Amino acid sequence: MDMNTIEAVVPTTDPAQWRDGDAWLAGGTVLFSYGSTVLKRLLDLGQADWPAVTVTDEGIELAATCTVAELYAVPVSPAAATLEWPGLALIRPCCDSFVASFKIWNMSTVGGNICTGLPAGPMTSLCAGLDGVATILSPDGGSRTVPVADVVIGDMQTILAPGELLRSVHLPATALSARVAFRRLSLSNLGRSGVLLIGRLDADNTLVITVTASTKRPVQLRFPAGQVPDAGTLADAVGESIPWPLYHDDIHGLPAWRRDMTFKLAEEIRAELLGESMTVSGDFWPPHATSPQPSTQPQASGTQKEAHHGN
Ligand SMILES: Cc1cc2nc3c(=O)[nH]c(=O)nc-3n(C[C@H](O)[C@H](O)[C@H](O)COP(=O)(O)OP(=O)(O)OC[C@H]3O[C@@H](n4cnc5c(N)ncnc54)[C@H](O)[C@@H]3O)c2cc1C
Repeated sequence: MDMNTIEAVVPTTDPAQWRDGDAWLAGGTVLFSYGSTVLKRLLDLGQADWPAVTVTDEGIELAATCTVAELYAVPVSPAAATLEWPGLALIRPCCDSFVASFKIWNMSTVGGNICTGLPAGPMTSLCAGLDGVATILSPDGGSRTVPVADVVIGDMQTILAPGELLRSVHLPATALSARVAFRRLSLSNLGRSGVLLIGRLDADNTLVITVTASTKRPVQLRFPAGQVPDAGTLADAVGESIPWPLYHDDIHGLPAWRRDMTFKLAEEIRAELLGESMTVSGDFWPPHATSPQPSTQPQASGTQKEAHHGN
């Protein structure tokens, strides 16, 4: 889409240059498809030259400008492959959750996805699910670090103040070393995610379930070792952590469907990671008396479901 109000495209990574009417430009797949009638300048990160992916024993540093295509290559890169982190198994299904062509994959960036703040942002899902920490640079020269799970606070809303620049995301080795599980549902075969849950069982037996896509912002449930829940306890925790208004409502899924699928997939993940059989009946399903029966919900034709295990 033409952006007729743009007066200049400025190559820079310096937040001090930001002024009213500016927007950071990464891959441009949102900026140029949504367009704008108010922006005056684009601050172009295209020449940032930040290393897209840096792998160390401490984890993986993703530059905000890392493209989806570059991220997709990480699990088979020599640096990451030798570390044998089970959490690497989450990268490709999250990239695949971008239902887009190679043209978009080659341009879309990790940072652009998180900063757009879509509930179905798969880079938000991945980075939040792996306890990623965002480094954010501000126009006054300062910086701050924030868990990615807290960066997106609503549908297309983030904590970023005007001019703040997402520089990178650190995925810690502790989370990458965990056993992981992935579940995703969409109403159509090539549709945007309606529900996307990531589970981790960390080395210290902490169970972490990160809910995205079904909710307007990421929701994390964390159960320390010794407090790992049974099915009923998990259902209660999901119910308490995600009040009705937090379920997202758009063409990609009704809130009632997203809610029931969130309960179901959370239990699938719990059972998978704990090596138990899944509870889908009795006092767990449907999770609450107010919940519509599954038969009244929209049918998910061609639903996509994937599971990835790391051992
Ligand atoms: C065909 C198609 C399919 C798509 N499918 C999906 C999908 O399934 N799920 C999904 O979530 N999105 C989807 N998108 C939207 C989009 O492609 C992604 O959200 C993408 O990751 C955005 O990244 P970008 O680098 O292109 O961002 P840009 O368009 O460059 O920027 C997006 C926004 O983020 C800001 N921004 C970018 N980088 C930074 C930074 N480092 N710091 C601060 N602000 C920044 C920009 O100012 C802008 O407001 C799709 C788009 C298309 C065209």
